[in-house]
Amino acid sequence: MSRKRIRFFLRSALLFVFAMGWSAAFAQTKSTRADSIVVFAPHPDDEVIGCAGIIMQALARGARVKVVAITSGDGFPAAAAGVAHKAVDQVGPEDFFALSRFRQMQSRAALGILGGKDNDLIVLGYPDGDLGNLYESTNDKVIRQQFTKKNETYASIQKDYHTSVHGRPAAYKRSSVLGDLVELLTTLQPTEIYVTDGTDGHIDHRAAFWFVRDAAKQVGYKGAFYTYLVHGLPAWPFPTGVTPNLPFESRKVDGEVAPRALPWPPPRRVPLTPVEAQRKLKSIQAHDIPVVGMPQHQSEMESFVKSEEVFWTPLASSR
Ligand SMILES: [Zn+2]
Repeated sequence: MSRKRIRFFLRSALLFVFAMGWSAAFAQTKSTRADSIVVFAPHPDDEVIGCAGIIMQALARGARVKVVAITSGDGFPAAAAGVAHKAVDQVGPEDFFALSRFRQMQSRAALGILGGKDNDLIVLGYPDGDLGNLYESTNDKVIRQQFTKKNETYASIQKDYHTSVHGRPAAYKRSSVLGDLVELLTTLQPTEIYVTDGTDGHIDHRAAFWFVRDAAKQVGYKGAFYTYLVHGLPAWPFPTGVTPNLPFESRKVDGEVAPRALPWPPPRRVPLTPVEAQRKLKSIQAHDIPVVGMPQHQSEMESFVKSEEVFWTPLASSR
């Protein structure tokens, strides 16, 4: 081979390597950008109950995942009493702050188990138990949470979202929640949204759906929109107990089909491998919380460990 040809060959090889590297880097950027998931949790724990599998699978394939806790998790007296080792009628504001810290730390730990980082958790810091009141407020009045006496956003283990972006908290009012959600969707540009279903038995969970749906409409969101069910009526989930080898099932309770008011089979079923199901169990166990008078609380949460996760697409149907 002449020196000229060798030089030509080397230059071509170099170009080829450069092009390959460039396209690989571009492909990586592209897949990360193209795959951006936001899981909205009314309270710190709903995200793993409904979406631990989605979160771990997305992180494993290099997608960007953000978990958004809409409330601080500060409105559950029996849990505040359990954490403080007090009787339920003895708990005060400081015990609810301690509970919110406890629950947010658990969310952070659970996210770590699923492969996420601390800053993948965003806490909006709205009042636990009052999301329904906020959504239904017609005059945009400021609400004061009955347990903490707070009337503006806060997060116990990090800055709440509004403070971190605007340097000050947001008042507990309807327009603040919607404003934060619209801003988040605009910034994060998700391709998939997950939020609790509008038929959930807990008012905060229904209101989370209404708020996120409205924010998605406001920004003209065109991506996938999935809902998950936590407090399904009249009973959910079934079968009960840690059942990593079984799918979710519909059943009849007192003549009524559960889950009520949702199509069955669900439109989307995401299989979990046995290893993933075990990891989901660990992430739920990271949320172990002593709840006074409700010793079954943890085992109810663990019943969401199944061979799959199930989702509905309410905005895609006429429901
Ligand atoms: Zn919840």
